[in-house]
Amino acid sequence: MADSLPSPQPTEPPAGLPVSCQCGNITLTTPTPSPMGMSYCHCTTCRKQSGSAFGASVYFPTDLVFPLPRDLEAKLAVFEHPTDSGGTMRCFFCPKCGVRIFNAAVLADGRTMREMVAFKAGAIEEGWLDWKGLGKEHVFTRSAVIELAEGWVCYETMPGEGPAVVVKGEKGERG
Ligand SMILES: [Zn+2]
Ligand SMILES: [Zn+2]
Repeated sequence: MADSLPSPQPTEPPAGLPVSCQCGNITLTTPTPSPMGMSYCHCTTCRKQSGSAFGASVYFPTDLVFPLPRDLEAKLAVFEHPTDSGGTMRCFFCPKCGVRIFNAAVLADGRTMREMVAFKAGAIEEGWLDWKGLGKEHVFTRSAVIELAEGWVCYETMPGEGPAVVVKGEKGERG
């Protein structure tokens, strides 16, 4: 007789999205299954950090992420750099494989945290993130090094600091 199949799991909504680094040292779950938003960032910092043309981030409420569970905090390494607005970006990464997991900004007062934590979208396990549904916004496109593709919603810098421009392809222009 073949082993009996495992009984089906109850269909409860997942508590959050599973996240891991490249080596498996860091594993965690996002605080909710649905990010507040997502963006692709073409700034020079994200390019350097990702080692690629742009970064991809999904956002979750800071007060659901912090304070970090103690065992997670003990495993993560932190790299800090100043932000343009006089605060500090705290960048949490795996010290074994170097993969960035999330960034949390402390404002210029040195105490208050920015309301959203940016998780690196590619650290979320395959199949869990709605990339096509969420990934419409491109920010800091003034420093983009690749051609902006048709349909992308682009901001020169950040939303709120200028209009969104939807990239039109040649087909669109010809009507
Ligand atoms: Zn790792
Ligand atoms: Zn950026």
